[in-house]
Amino acid sequence: MSRVSAVRFSHFLPSLLLLLAGLSAAYVKDLSVFFTSLFNVLPTLVLLLGGAYCAVYRRQRELFLMVTVYVAYFLLDTQTDFYRDNGRVREDAAVVFHLCCLLLPLLFSIYALWQEKTHLFRDFVARCAVLLAVGSVALALEQSFPQALLGWLAEIRWPVLHGAWMSLIQLSYPMFLIGFITLAAQYWYQPRPLHAAQLVGLLGMFWMLPQTFILPFTLNIMCSQVMLMIAAGVAHEAYQMAFRDELTGLPGRRALNERMQRLGRNYVLAMSDVDHFKRFNDTHGHDVGDQVLRLVASKLSKVSGGGRAYRYGGEEFAVVFAGKTLDECVPHLEEIREIIAGYAIKLRNPDRPHDDHQGRQRRAGSGASSVSVTVSIGVAERQADQRSPEEVLKSADQALYAAKGAGRNCVVAAGRTRRGAVRMQSAAG
Ligand code: GH3
Ligand code: MG
Ligand code: MG
Repeated sequence: MSRVSAVRFSHFLPSLLLLLAGLSAAYVKDLSVFFTSLFNVLPTLVLLLGGAYCAVYRRQRELFLMVTVYVAYFLLDTQTDFYRDNGRVREDAAVVFHLCCLLLPLLFSIYALWQEKTHLFRDFVARCAVLLAVGSVALALEQSFPQALLGWLAEIRWPVLHGAWMSLIQLSYPMFLIGFITLAAQYWYQPRPLHAAQLVGLLGMFWMLPQTFILPFTLNIMCSQVMLMIAAGVAHEAYQMAFRDELTGLPGRRALNERMQRLGRNYVLAMSDVDHFKRFNDTHGHDVGDQVLRLVASKLSKVSGGGRAYRYGGEEFAVVFAGKTLDECVPHLEEIREIIAGYAIKLRNPDRPHDDHQGRQRRAGSGASSVSVTVSIGVAERQADQRSPEEVLKSADQALYAAKGAGRNCVVAAGRTRRGAVRMQSAAG
């Protein structure tokens, strides 16, 4: 599967919605007592619930991301409370605020990029050590040399690059920029909901910091939203683990079972199975077999006519057409069968060169080997006497069996004679 096809807007959607909700809430003026009390406890509540949730799933990286956000919230909230109560900022406000502007994007990015190691306890200790080391150095400097530290933080090092819109210390911008670039790269190489949440979370904090003393409750709201984004990312991944098939990226058997419980009266189910796949595996190896399964899945996922493909198990895939009749579905299944049969799969050699240019040359020179596979499809429409979708699936399975018997690489509908079968030599055969 190419990287572009693994990138999904749905990975970003929950975080973007939380970000938008946070932005809208931050701009609301004259909040009622209910909301002011809520926003006062929200970050702590989210940390406790979200942190417990991450701990249960043993997601230490996310736990530490939340703790980082919470520590920044706590430090800045003390300052904004003082400002609200006294109408002036505390004497250490500038140094604390500037330190947060520098260290929050730094620590957030470090924890976001720091993948969990297998040894959880050691990983936990290492993460604690980083937090403590950074925190204690910052505290020691702040206590011992407040003026020198403030001067160092607030210094404009690159006057040419300094824009009038920059309300944070100059050092904070490269820190955020490096964070954005590395987190975007991380998402690109591993497109996961959590990596998307981290990226949007960093964006939320980038927006939040300049508003800290301007919009009341910005801090409470945005820190809560960022922690919620991370918790939602963990939940999203847990859902994917349960309902998505890892190899092909299609929804798996559990998702199919759930979908089948919500089908109405009229629907069509199809079962498709890769022909002679065992032989294919034996000839080309299991890795190539996996590549082929991914490809078949990606073709099936694009079936037209409103069908939705699921990996049923092994080299078998189910396609669900809700609210459709057999006659409406068969042409789409035929089309997808033909597409799969006509697709020449370029084989990646295990000894292929890492250098792309060299690889292209070698492929052009030797003519990289290509293979193709075919699928047989059995399809069944729900009949009035069929009470459960499982019965319909069984009929589709029987039709699939008939398709295999009829020579493979064809679509057979339950209760009908074989239709549109095209005999083609399967790749392995
Ligand atoms: P037929 O045309 O009758 O379907 O023949 P077949 O060889 O495809 O049938 P069979 O069900 O005997 O073989 C299925 C094979 O699929 C067996 C197993 O090696 C292979 N297989 C199942 N799951 C995977 C997988 O995840 N990856 C790979 N590479 N192979 C798989
Ligand atoms: Mg099979
Ligand atoms: Mg098979």
